[in-house]
Amino acid sequence: MPNKTPNAKLLWMQFEDVLAPRLGLTVKERAVYSYLLRHSLVVGKVRLQFAVMALARTLRLSIGATRYAVRRLDELGALRVLERNKTGHLVEMRLPEKIRAIGAGKNGATLITGATGERPASTIESTDFLKTWELRKAIHDREGGPCFYCLRRTPANVRCLDHVVPRVRFGRNSYRNLVSCCLECNTRKGDRAAPDFLRTLYRQGRLTSAELDARLRSLKDVAAGKLRPRLKVENGNWKIEIRN
Ligand SMILES: [Zn+2]
Repeated sequence: MPNKTPNAKLLWMQFEDVLAPRLGLTVKERAVYSYLLRHSLVVGKVRLQFAVMALARTLRLSIGATRYAVRRLDELGALRVLERNKTGHLVEMRLPEKIRAIGAGKNGATLITGATGERPASTIESTDFLKTWELRKAIHDREGGPCFYCLRRTPANVRCLDHVVPRVRFGRNSYRNLVSCCLECNTRKGDRAAPDFLRTLYRQGRLTSAELDARLRSLKDVAAGKLRPRLKVENGNWKIEIRN
């Protein structure tokens, strides 16, 4: 990707007027994105290496909150974590206009115009999918029946929604962090990381190696927002979209 310094004024407007409100960024996430942007795209660099601890100190945030903000920005597609090791994170920053989740137009001008005064009350990215029965059902429907983890067919009365990143680790009620699973997997997984739990199922012979690989890929797809529930906006509310 060629290193090109973008129009800083346009970038700032896109960030404040479109990106932050549409992705429902918190003040902390805004601070982290803004700082990383300043040291990457604003000076013509796409990639940036940083240590979470140093970033937290600079922004006067806790390390946990900073790490969570980076992870959430990654989930939302505002940046991509390329590497994570002891020395820190290597990330690739995305220009607001390149972030698919905000439904950006091809150029910045379209983006700004489209955002003025006609932003929907709620976007799929900022929607709490535990909020209503319909939203919860949309996640169950997305999985189509089997438990996300063990792949057993799960009757509606014993299936539940599981946080891939547990709530104790600040996992959100987003469609990118909720999966439909059986009660047993939900209980057994507890606060463990989802990939670890899947590997346990594999070791216990509940998943084949091909199924394990497919499950791990699906986990990534969920986090990347590739598995969207079928929803449409009707009278300002989300409705399940019925497709034939
Ligand atoms: Zn299960």
